Amino acid sequence: MSSLTTQRIIDNALRLGLGHTAESVTESAARADSAHMGYLDFVDHLLAEEVAVRESKRFRNALKLSGLPHHKTLDDFDYTFQPGLEPRRIRDLATLEFLSGAGNIAILGPPGVGKTHIAIGLAVAACQAGKSIYFTTLDDLVRKLKAADAANRLPRQLANLMRPSLLVIDEVGYLALDRDEANMFFQLISRRYEKGSTIITSNKHFTEWGTVLGDDVLATAILDRLLHHCDVLTINGPSYRLKDRQALVTPTEPPAS
Ligand code: ADP
Ligand code: MG
Repeated sequence: MSSLTTQRIIDNALRLGLGHTAESVTESAARADSAHMGYLDFVDHLLAEEVAVRESKRFRNALKLSGLPHHKTLDDFDYTFQPGLEPRRIRDLATLEFLSGAGNIAILGPPGVGKTHIAIGLAVAACQAGKSIYFTTLDDLVRKLKAADAANRLPRQLANLMRPSLLVIDEVGYLALDRDEANMFFQLISRRYEKGSTIITSNKHFTEWGTVLGDDVLATAILDRLLHHCDVLTINGPSYRLKDRQALVTPTEPPAS
């Protein structure tokens, strides 16, 4: 290939936003040459590499902007530690079928059983599949909604929270909300109802949500929308955080059967 042609290919690739092709075309052409690659195979190879590089950049950027506190995957989850939880249920959810019907997932259980881990694992899987994701704790969410409301920007903030295909709201029930806060939470859940998927994690059973949200009617209205299309995953096992310290925490209790 003449250097003039090479330069023209690089210029045109850059103009088209094909950064990886511009960088690698000389090397790829040389490799294709020595492998006696056909024309179509070569074009196929160039485009596939460009798409792969772009996709991996998108994935990394999206993860950075997702608000996820870490990026553990479902493969990092040790099912043997939580025998009450059927791996098949998680594998079914990991197909992401629920996203197409704007279905929700509620993950309930005491601290340390892996609720946040599973929610994050599902969000990472969704992000990998090209879906937009956002992670927040309920506490941070309410703080943001209140700040937006004070600045007369609540509708815009709620509209922003409609964007992600999958919204994770972690730690519902850790802190009690007042009526105004619960009302904002309701507005969000009500807007996303049948439009976008939400995963919530909670250490409180649904029957306790009235107390946590400071209002039985609002709690019922939120649960009504959340649970209409919802997989409920209850994890009632030991805390992974305390797995090496169980003896210190419960010195007199016999091991759970
Ligand atoms: P929860 O949200 O239920 O309080 P987390 O998901 O935050 O619990 O889990 C606490 C810690 O233990 C995290 O670092 C998580 O990755 C880890 N963890 C929990 N369960 C498991 C498990 N079954 N296998 C591997 N790591 C786990
Ligand atoms: Mg958690």
